[in-house]
Amino acid sequence: MTIQHRNFINGSFVDAKAQGMIPVLNPATDQVLSEIPETSAEAVGDAVAAAKAAQKPWEAKAPIERAGYLRQISAKIRDNVPELAKTIVAEQGKTMGLAEVEVNFTADYIDYMAEWARRLEGEIVTSDNPNESIFLFRQAIGVVGGILPWNFPFFLIARKLAPSLLTGNSIVLKPSEETPNNAALFMKLLAETDMPNGVVNMVYGRGAVSGAALCGNPDVGLLSFTGSVETGSRIMEAAAKNITKVNLELGGKAPAIVLKDADLDMAVDAIVASRVINSGQVCNCAERVYVEASVEDEFVTKLVAKMEEQKFGNPAEDFSVAYGPMINKAGLDKVSGLVERAKAAGANLVTGGEVADLGTGNYYTPTVLTGCSQDSEIIQNEVFGPVLPVNTVEDIDEAITRANDSEYGLTSSIYTNNINAAMQACRELKFGETYINRNNFEAMQGYHAGVRKSGIGGADGKHGLYEYTQTHMVYIQS
Ligand code: NAD
Repeated sequence: MTIQHRNFINGSFVDAKAQGMIPVLNPATDQVLSEIPETSAEAVGDAVAAAKAAQKPWEAKAPIERAGYLRQISAKIRDNVPELAKTIVAEQGKTMGLAEVEVNFTADYIDYMAEWARRLEGEIVTSDNPNESIFLFRQAIGVVGGILPWNFPFFLIARKLAPSLLTGNSIVLKPSEETPNNAALFMKLLAETDMPNGVVNMVYGRGAVSGAALCGNPDVGLLSFTGSVETGSRIMEAAAKNITKVNLELGGKAPAIVLKDADLDMAVDAIVASRVINSGQVCNCAERVYVEASVEDEFVTKLVAKMEEQKFGNPAEDFSVAYGPMINKAGLDKVSGLVERAKAAGANLVTGGEVADLGTGNYYTPTVLTGCSQDSEIIQNEVFGPVLPVNTVEDIDEAITRANDSEYGLTSSIYTNNINAAMQACRELKFGETYINRNNFEAMQGYHAGVRKSGIGGADGKHGLYEYTQTHMVYIQS
């Protein structure tokens, strides 16, 4: 019989008052893995009510005590890495190696956030008045609504839960309807800890029903969302009704700039790894390349050779593949459509450009295009697949101008051995993050935040942690 997941509300696995069930598919085999309920607005309301009731006593605990509960969760995760990784591979399609990295990184992330328990700080500000003190306190916001995407589904639970809980908030999580199985396993492990009832709740369902109910609930104090720009915009609209604070981590269209003095082998390795990891379905990874004309031929030759080496297939059966299937048929059709339209618009297909038939699953070949115009769809829209459009530029000024010419502003990278060029990129690239001579991957102690349509606010580090707090200024005459 198909596994049917149940919501987790107020410390128990409960009925969803569901408006039907949603099948969860393995993107490599098309098999049904489980079913989740389409949670009704009423049941989402129950979860928020439980979180609201639990929040005050949770906030009253010392941060170091809250950190202890977080460490119980990370210990549970470390004890269950193989099962968690296998679950992620089956429903999301990433490689086993990457799934293991995701699970271990998640445990590390929770421990990192727990370390902040003794480092949360307010401020004392000087006053214009004699005998007056001014204090800035940081307080919990209340109930956080955490809405998750499917591409790093397990890590994103922690990215929302750990800072929420450490700062004294409770949380209601809604995983993606594509990848709820790892979330269900997470809740099973959490239920085995001493976490007080109601502090962490989970509801399943599609965005338009369960997600929208969470966004429209006036008792949610912060909507922390990771996903597409389109959904982010809808969430802002819903949040506007109750003036709910939003934290939005949205899509990217990361440029990679390769200058003539770069170590081309290093640039090729980093850009290819960045483009095929998780089948190209990563928000911060290279989506377009701008290479200086004098090294274009050499760079493209090396890039194409490396892309053609990338093996793909069912990651649960072949541990040597570089990448697995796309998340679903719609994702595959989107990538394929973008490449076909780029070709029709005059781009040159150098390698790939095909939907691969492996019998089952949604696979796309590693693809390189050249000669795409700056205003074309494939340069301006997030592709989210193993496809790299490469463009030629005359110099760094043109590269930076074209890199900045995007509605997205999440991450960017530059490969150069010229310190002046690197510093110019630091000053002039308008992105939340820039990686210089390294792979596209952020650190948990950094601050992952997009500009323009890539988001509002950010995650990780001190700045990410404080997004889960509100300030309270106190003026005392004594
Ligand atoms: P998505 O926007 O389709 O869905 C994300 C979540 O939002 C899902 O849980 C979905 O059910 C929910 N949702 C959909 N409509 C909703 C609504 N009206 N109200 C409330 N919730 C709703 O995104 P996705 O396809 O799951 O993820 C891929 C996208 O996420 C890509 O654009 C990627 O770049 C982005 N992403 C960004 C980051 C980052 O840190 N900036 C990280 C990972 C993924």
